[in-house]
Amino acid sequence: MSVTSNWASWSEYKKSERATVDMPSGGDGRCAIFYPASYAVGMANLGIHYIYRALRELGVAVERFFAFPIPYRSVEHDTMLERFPVILGSVSYEADVLTFSRWLAKGGISPSRESRERFQSHESPLIGAGGAVTYINPLSLSGICDFVVLGDGVETIRSFVRTLRRGLSREKTLAELSEHSSIYVPSAHSHGRYSLNIANTDISRDYGHGVWTTPNTVFGNSLLVELQRGCPKKCRFCTISHCFAPVRIRDVNLVKRDIEKSAIVSDFSQIGLVTPEAGDYAALDELLEFAESLGIGVSFASLRVDRITEKMMKTIVSGGRRSITIAPESGDDSLRERCGKYFSNGTVVEKLEMAADMGAKNAKLYFMAGLPDETDEELLSISELCAAARKKTGLKITAAVSPFVPKPGTPWKGEVFAGEKKLKAGYSLILKSFGGINGVKLQRVSIKEACLEYAVSWAGPESAKFLATEELSGDSYRKLEGLMDRTETVSELRRLGLGVGHE
Ligand code: SF4
Repeated sequence: MSVTSNWASWSEYKKSERATVDMPSGGDGRCAIFYPASYAVGMANLGIHYIYRALRELGVAVERFFAFPIPYRSVEHDTMLERFPVILGSVSYEADVLTFSRWLAKGGISPSRESRERFQSHESPLIGAGGAVTYINPLSLSGICDFVVLGDGVETIRSFVRTLRRGLSREKTLAELSEHSSIYVPSAHSHGRYSLNIANTDISRDYGHGVWTTPNTVFGNSLLVELQRGCPKKCRFCTISHCFAPVRIRDVNLVKRDIEKSAIVSDFSQIGLVTPEAGDYAALDELLEFAESLGIGVSFASLRVDRITEKMMKTIVSGGRRSITIAPESGDDSLRERCGKYFSNGTVVEKLEMAADMGAKNAKLYFMAGLPDETDEELLSISELCAAARKKTGLKITAAVSPFVPKPGTPWKGEVFAGEKKLKAGYSLILKSFGGINGVKLQRVSIKEACLEYAVSWAGPESAKFLATEELSGDSYRKLEGLMDRTETVSELRRLGLGVGHE
């Protein structure tokens, strides 16, 4: 195996990390965990913190890898990838499946599970994955991975380590893993009927917070704290409420204890709330007061418009931020309601006015194009809402528009994906309508990326094999779309016992 990496070291990144918990060092059984994005993005993902900590506490010699800036050496000891007999990918988004595949290929490991089985079974590492994508469609990883941990991974990873420690052959290891109800082993589960399930744990028993703080993340020097998994709102396009169910909430006293303990040993200027919609957390005010009493700021990933309060705005502004992010999805009240979001344009403008009065300067508004039964007037309403908000508030507005992608497991799973041609036409209509509005900027997510997201999110066995080939290019989505068969994907998931919600 040859690794294509020039010498470079993580030492500067390591120096900036502060651990919030004591974790055993050393350990036996080398294991690499890979996040298919940059260090800055990966370290802002709580999943990798949890799995790393679980493996360390089990005595596994785990080390982290990121796609950028130093892809083939570990953060911990600059160890080369080729020294790891086990590699686990933490796959959060559909596009990450491709990054994982390409990273393996460039690192000298065939991304194709079948080809590794056929030609290199003795020298190849065991390759697994977990993460958000496994809640939605784990088949997308079946071309690459020897095994896939389904859903919440901390409990399952303990069983995985027990099996690994038995020192069995590769075949026997996979056979034993396949007996776990939340581990999908594509080679073992290729025929027959199974009752696999997506693990969902009591999150009060999970770790609840990040194990390092560092200024080198996209959220700055934050302690990540988890408040909630799943969402009680049932927006029709959203995987969080449907695929990550049931809703689980961490008690505020546990959250406060985590912050207090971490503040003693680590060093962070703010806490980053990991929750679908912070405004839904019943004890949010109590938590904000607690953070304020410790002199720590709070950052919210995104806010649901109707739940924004003066207290939340005050916290954002007093932490030095002047920007607010919300997701109206549409500029039209009735289309927004069809999406499952029940607030009006009037509420959007009113909340932005409040933000401006309290010192905000910028607002980012997320919208979707290509929604079911969308009309041209509804598309044009995006710029109308942005213009009205700008006029009333004086905020600098950024409208971020992305294509609607129907996802497995959601109520809109059966809806049509608008496709390249229709999306291009919709985008040019939107672009024209934004012409000449001062103080409003339009950002459009690439249509190619959305097509790829669509194809990967519905990948069945055949397209999963293609995702594991080494010749993936920018236009791979066209080939993937050609291989896609949504009905077949649903029936394959059903065969594995994972069809609930996908039917
Ligand atoms: S879009 Fe937000 S509010 Fe709606 S279900 Fe998803 S996470 Fe919940």
